[in-house]
Amino acid sequence: MTYRIALAGLHMECATFLPQLTLRDVFEAGTVRGADVIRKFRGSNTVMGGFLGVIDDAGAEAIPLLHSDGGAAGLADQAAVMSYRQEIVEHLTELDGGIDGLLLHLHGAMVTQDDLDPDATTLEAIRSAVGPDLPIMIALDYHANLDLASIAGATAAFGYRYSPHIDMGATGARAARCLLKTLAGDIRPAMAIARPGLILPSIFSATSLEPLKDLVDEAARLSEDSDAYRDVSLFAGFAYADVPNCGASVVAVVDGTPAQAAALSTRLSDKIARARAALSTPAPVYDLEQGIRRALAVSQSSDRPVVILEHADRANDSTHGLRALLPLADRARIAVPFLWDPAAVAMAMAAGEGAEVSLDLGGHSAPRAGGPVPVLAKVDAVRPDFTYRGTGEMRAGAEVRLGDTALLDVGGLKISVTSRSESAIDFDPFFQLDLDPVDYDIVLLRSKTHFRAAWEGFAAEIIIVDTPDYGPADISTLAYQHARP
Ligand SMILES: [Zn+2]
Repeated sequence: MTYRIALAGLHMECATFLPQLTLRDVFEAGTVRGADVIRKFRGSNTVMGGFLGVIDDAGAEAIPLLHSDGGAAGLADQAAVMSYRQEIVEHLTELDGGIDGLLLHLHGAMVTQDDLDPDATTLEAIRSAVGPDLPIMIALDYHANLDLASIAGATAAFGYRYSPHIDMGATGARAARCLLKTLAGDIRPAMAIARPGLILPSIFSATSLEPLKDLVDEAARLSEDSDAYRDVSLFAGFAYADVPNCGASVVAVVDGTPAQAAALSTRLSDKIARARAALSTPAPVYDLEQGIRRALAVSQSSDRPVVILEHADRANDSTHGLRALLPLADRARIAVPFLWDPAAVAMAMAAGEGAEVSLDLGGHSAPRAGGPVPVLAKVDAVRPDFTYRGTGEMRAGAEVRLGDTALLDVGGLKISVTSRSESAIDFDPFFQLDLDPVDYDIVLLRSKTHFRAAWEGFAAEIIIVDTPDYGPADISTLAYQHARP
């Protein structure tokens, strides 16, 4: 028989310390419905791409409902989340039993002004609409904050193994294969979650850093080196969402009993708890001045660019790093890719290529983003509605939409300015604008871990700097209200 499998997604990572709400218009810009879900994601390294690959290979029928992505920003607006949740529930109600299973893509670190675990609420709403028996497999981000209630509505839950998230498609495929095995009667999944009681700043959730690498590899080994079906996901959690279930967790799915799943998840979770001290200090963090001094020194003896990581930026528009680098244009070739500032782009586009324009650049999103920097910029290039398919490992085949985009030259610094907030993680921010990363001594990035897929092994050095922004490496400086001590 041909299985009919519904697909849906409602996805956002919320840094609750940011002051502004993410409203419906942001979600709607990242929303596709019906057959457009297939057109957008098939063949891409995304969760939906992974779902679709397995469904296609099995000759099953995909019934795409909706995929809505609010990106990564401040709190999600409750009304917006409720409307997309309702849309998914209404579709499922209309299908009225005409499906064999549901594959759902959630982030796991969404928060609204009224709901500290809206992903759990979405799952509950779906579960009560479809009844207790329909298999629902969910794929979650590695940065999900989870407890038992978060995943109770799902039959089985799966997370990305790695950060950079190079295995988003593979994770969707793991969830889809589990669903097909369940439908075929080959397995009866049972699930358990364990929490080690650890909150990691995002910068230290990179899975190439020891001892996290060892633990992540163990989760993969536990999943693969077994004749019986089992799947273990290690979730790092998301430190900048102040919620009761903030922190790391381990989810195990087995063909067996909940007790067997619990034994697996607890074993790895206990190991994570024992590694707490080493997990909390896996790499040096510099203040901005020290970091820049080090970058200048390293770049003098290398023909590869040095990465300065302004990782505390949560909106891709912070200017602490830019402000400090501007006076150094005569000492080093410096690139600042993907600074978010739609107003600056509009002014650059109005001025036109080759023109000079005065701008108050970046720093508009929130008080701690560093404030705008007044610059006189030459407009090197403009790209209306700049959109491309990613060529890096993590974003392979995925659509990257930046809106109107301008490439500026500010006293020798190359700055690409985008209308939509998107982190520069790979070499596309250079290649897609006819630039080459090897032409630069210093590159200022805002990514936390995803840049490592391209830059680790290429950069002369990765220099992590802490700035007075919303996502610091020292999370003890944040005023948590809900997270457990
Ligand atoms: Zn993530």
